[in-house]
Amino acid sequence: MSDDQKILRESVRDFAASELAPNIPSLDVKQEFDKSTLTKFADQGLLGVSIPEKYGGSGMDYISTAIVSEELEYVDAALRVIISVHNGLNSMGLLQWASEEQKQKWLKPQAEGKRIATFGLTEPNAGSDVAALETHAKEDGDFYILNGSKMWISLADVADNFLVFAKTDMSKGSRGITAFHVEREMKGFSSGTIHDKLGVRSGNTGHMTFDNIEVPKENMIGELGEGFKIAMSCLDNGRFTVAAGALGCAKASRDAAVKYAHERKTFGKEIGQHQLVQRLLANMQQGIDTAELLIWKAGWMKNMGIRNTRETAMAKWVATNVASQSADDAIQIHGGMGIAGGPDGYPVERFWRNARAARIYEGSDQIQEIMQGQYAMGYRQDKPLRKELPKWVPS
Ligand SMILES: Cc1cc2nc3c(=O)[nH]c(=O)nc-3n(C[C@H](O)[C@H](O)[C@H](O)COP(=O)(O)OP(=O)(O)OC[C@H]3O[C@@H](n4cnc5c(N)ncnc54)[C@H](O)[C@@H]3O)c2cc1C
Repeated sequence: MSDDQKILRESVRDFAASELAPNIPSLDVKQEFDKSTLTKFADQGLLGVSIPEKYGGSGMDYISTAIVSEELEYVDAALRVIISVHNGLNSMGLLQWASEEQKQKWLKPQAEGKRIATFGLTEPNAGSDVAALETHAKEDGDFYILNGSKMWISLADVADNFLVFAKTDMSKGSRGITAFHVEREMKGFSSGTIHDKLGVRSGNTGHMTFDNIEVPKENMIGELGEGFKIAMSCLDNGRFTVAAGALGCAKASRDAAVKYAHERKTFGKEIGQHQLVQRLLANMQQGIDTAELLIWKAGWMKNMGIRNTRETAMAKWVATNVASQSADDAIQIHGGMGIAGGPDGYPVERFWRNARAARIYEGSDQIQEIMQGQYAMGYRQDKPLRKELPKWVPS
């Protein structure tokens, strides 16, 4: 870590522990999203970490976004999800694909935390199979008329700006998808919240409906029919934050388990003295060290301007499974107390519930496995894109 990265890690860790962590268990029980979190993030400069200063960000390198994601999910996944959709999926997507004028208009206020952003790809009938999406945008004079709905969208009921993917040509499959910048204030936009989720319960997840929204043509991001490539490259950045967040969840599970293994005694000794308990901890550490190296490798490639779709996908696949298994083993180490959550209980059952969803969103386990198999066989290769994520330039 550079000095800047070390300072960032310490400051986000302190901020999350003092300002956010105390409220998380009760927000999780109440399934409540605390909107003041967004103001706090903005005040800390977290909403534009790796965005260059000329677009309102902090100008830090891409690994810094991973550090922020890790430290936030050390406390709770719902906090990291904000970074995933606002910074990773939307703002870094605009940094890569938007025109200079669009960046000044939309990216800058996002990086400054004045407008909250998210990413609308998934629909009721299209998740893993992105090319099946049904939302459509029909050309009409200076506008595209947007109709359709999106499902499982993080911050759907909270965000101001939306990077939305719609078919502009229903006959062309993935090549008929185009990306648009949509705003909550546009007539015909509505959204709602999904309740009773297994995890990420203090986060907002919802749905949105577009009813004849008139989207100005200048709100198109990239070129007509380029939306599928844009969506996939945005996932390179979103998955990076999910991987780093999962690392934070795995470390939090390990630390909680170690603490309990020192406190709890059975058969006359600390349970941490039993070798089978040590094995669970050793496996957690193996996963944590592996995931961390994969995340830093992907981050280094981003900094250097090297395409990293495979490496980021691998980091996401490994890290989310490490988090899931670590949280599961942490519950095991806590025995019966492991399933006692809430403000008066232990955090590990919340980590377990949060970790589960990350193996589904931004490419499920199965999609990650298929991708890696295809790369291994040579069926999948990453061709250069018309616009790549800019290499990090220190300011
Ligand atoms: C908490 C949460 C937040 C989310 N936030 C966002 C967001 O902000 N923006 C957004 O656009 N989306 C978001 N999503 C949606 C998420 O990305 C999708 O749920 C995910 O891509 C899977 O799509 P699906 O749910 O439609 O499942 P499906 O695609 O229907 O898949 C169902 C099952 O079939 C398997 N499967 C599918 N195809 C294959 C195949 N070819 N081979 C083998 N197995 C296969 C899958 O792995 C999965 O196990 C979020 C989801 C959750 C749960």
